[in-house]
Amino acid sequence: MSFHELGLSAELLRAVEALGYTQPTPIQQQAIPAVLAGHDVLAGAQTGTGKTAAFVLPTLQRLNQNPTGKRAPRALVLTPTRELAAQIGEDVQNLGRHLPLKHTVIFGGVGINPQIDRLRRGIDLLVATPGRLLDHAGQKTVDLSQVEVLVLDEADRMLDMGFIHDIKRVLALLPKQRQNLLFSATYSDDIRRLADGLLRDPVQVEVARRNTAAETVEQRIYPVDKPRKRELLSHLIHNGGWEQVLVFTRTKHGANRLAEQLDRDGLTAAAIHGNKSQGARTRALEGFKNGNVRVLVATDIAARGIDIDRLPHVVNYELPNVAEDYVHRIGRTGRAGAQGAAVSLVCAEEHSLLTGIQRLLKRELPRETLPGFEPSETAATAPPPQRQKPSSRRSRGLGGAPGRRSGARNRRA
Ligand code: AMP
Repeated sequence: MSFHELGLSAELLRAVEALGYTQPTPIQQQAIPAVLAGHDVLAGAQTGTGKTAAFVLPTLQRLNQNPTGKRAPRALVLTPTRELAAQIGEDVQNLGRHLPLKHTVIFGGVGINPQIDRLRRGIDLLVATPGRLLDHAGQKTVDLSQVEVLVLDEADRMLDMGFIHDIKRVLALLPKQRQNLLFSATYSDDIRRLADGLLRDPVQVEVARRNTAAETVEQRIYPVDKPRKRELLSHLIHNGGWEQVLVFTRTKHGANRLAEQLDRDGLTAAAIHGNKSQGARTRALEGFKNGNVRVLVATDIAARGIDIDRLPHVVNYELPNVAEDYVHRIGRTGRAGAQGAAVSLVCAEEHSLLTGIQRLLKRELPRETLPGFEPSETAATAPPPQRQKPSSRRSRGLGGAPGRRSGARNRRA
């Protein structure tokens, strides 16, 4: 199927083409016609499936088809993090470049006055995090009475982050008559309750079964003693010639410390987490995208909105406490069809976490012990080592460039 068959206008098709998108992804194929037809949509789609364009394209088209001349936003996209908000703003900018529509992005942690100025000048589409949006609503610097389309993006993460009350307060400010689109990577009971209260006769679109990202990303476990993790990580990056590595730690402090240590090892590294100013986060992310920063160390929440094409290497320096976060983390690799590799450095005390992850994935992950880094610690819960042939595994590209299985996609129609 081509983008031409989806009913999009020539201006949008030009923008899509300029971005190099040749084929709509499965979520785009299903969601775009439904949104254009005016339906509410409940979409199960993970990051990396092309979900942003799936709601941005048809929403822009609907706004452009019925100009009202109103200055207040007619489409509102709510999203959990500043990074994600900024990323959506970038996509709106790129996809809407040939349309006479205005948009802006508002989130906390930066000055409110420039946002007020932009809102005052008139906006068609507004991307916002819930807290800052409510600040504006409280100060009457945003008028939500004209909203025709509401998008809740990464709704599961917004609930995880405790935004449910903020979301309800925003909903109360919107006109009753409107189109609602809800995007979520997972379906918990809370998401179902939110969807039931929000959506009218929704078209349901499901492209990535829960946890499928984990099935197409090449994964490996390196058992190692905890005090030697940093050394092993440097070794893997140096020896594998990894040029762009996203490393997850569990704590902000751990992220800072690791970035400093890696820097001392001669690897340019930066940390990104919620305690950093917006400016520092943007700088770190820019450096990472343009290749000046080789290793970006992040906590789960900070990494949530990072969008980098074909991120080749993700490292779990520490396993997450919640098994589903593992799936979110490794979903950062091989986005939109590109192949990626995810490695986890696992010490003895993390074996129960590993067991939980493997239970969620319904399979055991391949493991490899690197000569010189054999663990001396053991855990009573440690699963037996797998009989893997390290040499054949190594030749599959984990250490070098991302693999060539270009057909493998993190999504399922
Ligand atoms: P998302 O799931 O919205 O975070 O998108 C993941 C990545 O896929 C982004 O970098 C998009 O630019 C890219 N993308 C979106 N749609 C397509 C497409 N049809 N073909 C190729 N890449 C796409």
